[in-house]
Formats: sequence, C-alpha cells, structure tokens
Amino acid sequence: MKLSIRYYGDPILRTKAKAIEEITPEIIQLAHDMVAAMVEYNGVGLAAPQVGHLLRIYVFRDEWLTENGQYELGHPQVVINPVLTSPSKDTETMLEGCLSLPNLHVKVTRPKKIHISYQNLKGEIIEQELEGFLARVNMHENDHLNGVLHIDRAAPKDRNAIEAGLQKIKQQYPQTV
Ligand code: ZN
Repeated sequence: MKLSIRYYGDPILRTKAKAIEEITPEIIQLAHDMVAAMVEYNGVGLAAPQVGHLLRIYVFRDEWLTENGQYELGHPQVVINPVLTSPSKDTETMLEGCLSLPNLHVKVTRPKKIHISYQNLKGEIIEQELEGFLARVNMHENDHLNGVLHIDRAAPKDRNAIEAGLQKIKQQYPQTV
C-alpha cells in the first residue's frame, strides 16, 4: 500500500509509538511499504509515525560520499523496537533534514557513537556499535518513535532562525487533522 507522509504540525509526530509485540505479515508489509516511501521521497530514513503508524519501527539507509564527489546509498535496513544506549561523550554537529519537514535543514549536535539493540524482520536481536552518519540517522529515527523531532535538539538561535520555515510547512503541506 502506498503510504503518505505526515508533515510538521501533525500531532502524530508528537506521539510516542508502541512496541511491536509480534512480527506479523502486516508488519512485514508495512516495512516494505516504508522502504518504498523512503526511496520514493529520496530520504535516508523514515519512521512509522511519519506515515501514520504509532509503532516502534523505522527504516534507513547509509549514505556516503565517493572519491568523485557523488553520494552513494546503502541497502535499506529495517529496525524494530530499537533500544539506544551508551552514547559517547564526543559529539558532532551536522545539518539534518527530515521528510516531515521538507526543504528545511538545521544543525543538530549528537553523540558520535551509540550502541543499538533491535529486532530485524526475522525477529532476531541485533546488537551494534554505530558511529558517524549511521549513529546519527538511527538517533534521528529513534527520536521519531518518542515524538521528538530534530528541531527540538537544535540550539535556540538555530531553532529561532527556522521558525518562519516551520510556519510555512504548516501552511503548504496537508495536515491530516
Ligand atoms: Zn525525520
């Protein structure tokens, strides 16, 4: 089923998602539909609340710059019931975007490394140490499962600088409420 994106202003983006108790065929279908939507919208990550489902699942793909200056994308990954722990004290500040806040980028400071434990689509528990872009994208998507947006983590002056852009999104993009 084709999924539509929920945009900034939609209260679902501010609601905590529920754990997935069992990986049913419906969950597998949702994961596939989310990957399709992420690719269609040219994103590097998409969490279930962004497509109207309050479930603890997100999809993402790695992204890196090649020697000849092109961006390359990795295989889409599915993350279910993630638990992020042991953030590094070292932090990094980078511009972040979000499919629910189109055409808007803001600097966000996050730990450089983090530990993740999650289930894959087969229900296997995966443990990984994440670093750099992979750590960042997983922290961004995990935030969505808790009703948190990247703009919440921006420095006050950067948050103020995008206020007009946020209001524009509310006016230009459809709200489902
Ligand atoms: Zn996002």
